[in-house]
Amino acid sequence: MALLEIENLSVAFATSGGTFRAVDKLSLSVQSNDILAIVGESGSGKSVAMMAVMGLLPWTAKVTADKLNFNGIDLLNLNARMRKKVIGKDIAMIFQEPMSSLNPCFTVGFQLAEALRVHLGMNRAERRKRSIELLELVGIPAPEKRLSAFPHQLSGGMSQRVMIAMAISCNPKLLIADEPTTALDVTIQAQILDLLVSLQSETDMGLVLITHDMGVVAETADRVVVQYAGQKAEEQPVKKLFAEPHHPYTSALLAALPERATSQILPSIPGVVPGQFDRPKGCLFSPRCAYATDLCRTVEPKRAEAALGHALCHYPLVDGEPTKNQKVS
Ligand code: SF4
Ligand code: MG
Repeated sequence: MALLEIENLSVAFATSGGTFRAVDKLSLSVQSNDILAIVGESGSGKSVAMMAVMGLLPWTAKVTADKLNFNGIDLLNLNARMRKKVIGKDIAMIFQEPMSSLNPCFTVGFQLAEALRVHLGMNRAERRKRSIELLELVGIPAPEKRLSAFPHQLSGGMSQRVMIAMAISCNPKLLIADEPTTALDVTIQAQILDLLVSLQSETDMGLVLITHDMGVVAETADRVVVQYAGQKAEEQPVKKLFAEPHHPYTSALLAALPERATSQILPSIPGVVPGQFDRPKGCLFSPRCAYATDLCRTVEPKRAEAALGHALCHYPLVDGEPTKNQKVS
């Protein structure tokens, strides 16, 4: 059984201008010991999908799914008691901005101990011992001293390490990291990624890494889901995805990687992810796609088979050339 199983997850927001589908029929699964990267530009619904998993969306969000299971537990119909047992303990999440996720009014030690008290019922001495262990584990020097520090006394990288310590404090089975390094300097980014990967490999925790950075994907992920405008464009094991992207969007993302650029000028994908009110007909990527035809501009594509990365495209790429999706009538 997969740790996390998502089938046809949709998240819609009712707005004055109509319904906005932030996530549109997303399916994916994460196994224990698996690092799944969800990659896409901002506005692709990556964070919203994982917030739905955590039950963190506002009430205005309409969340539907054929399946949204964690370890066989239906997350869509959790009662309050089960929610408290699962969320924050078995599934933990870290966010882009460590500074805004830590409470400025409480010490690091207090915030770490709180999760241990609530979820694991540890006494004071046990909490202190475990907090020091956790800070050591995430590479914070002089952890005993840091317990009495307030968040503003920590650098961005240190704060993110504290957030990771808090997230793993209850030995989660699944850790969701939403752009965990975006707010940090490049050298610190690499250290935090290394830390996440090593923590993951030392346990059998599943890790979902949300990122807009294909470079990060290459260095960390086992499998990759490429999201575009709320839809899954393609999904492949990382090596296969880099060797042969089947969706034109994936191919364009890879072409924009510095090491793949063929000229001095980095190719970027023209245009932006369509917003709420400018969704094109047919394929959502068609205004930006180099291979778009009239069919693309009028008819929504169907999903190609697994061998073609389940690409949501009329003309999945094979050896870099568009081919006809056999599922199109
Ligand atoms: Fe490009 Fe057409 Fe495929 Fe959309 S369906 S990604 S426009 S080739
Ligand atoms: Mg996001």
